[in-house]
Amino acid sequence: MTAVRDGVLRCVRPDVTTRLRILDDGAWLSVDDTRRVSVSELWRLESADFCECDLADLVVENLLETGVEGRTVQVRAYGQCIACGAKSTTGWVPVGRVVDGEFVDIDREGVLTSTSDR
Ligand SMILES: [Zn+2]
Repeated sequence: MTAVRDGVLRCVRPDVTTRLRILDDGAWLSVDDTRRVSVSELWRLESADFCECDLADLVVENLLETGVEGRTVQVRAYGQCIACGAKSTTGWVPVGRVVDGEFVDIDREGVLTSTSDR
């Protein structure tokens, strides 16, 4: 897992470069200069360490960093679980994939599983 921050170019494959950026102080994830993921999304997050809930109902308040693993675009986010009220930072949450150089959303209305890599 390689994390990137503002304005960093990131190669997904040697022949395909995908530009990942966090914009507007964490309000947006931009992929190849297109805004793809925003705050205020509601994620159902399966995470051992976000809060006490088996499944966190997470309101995303801030996108912290982004990265790729293989073809999977992931972000770490700060937010609040509306079930228990806990505020915390997620591990890496998959939000999309790069397929043939194009960003394809992962269905974020389903259950997302974060991986801890802090
Ligand atoms: Zn919770």
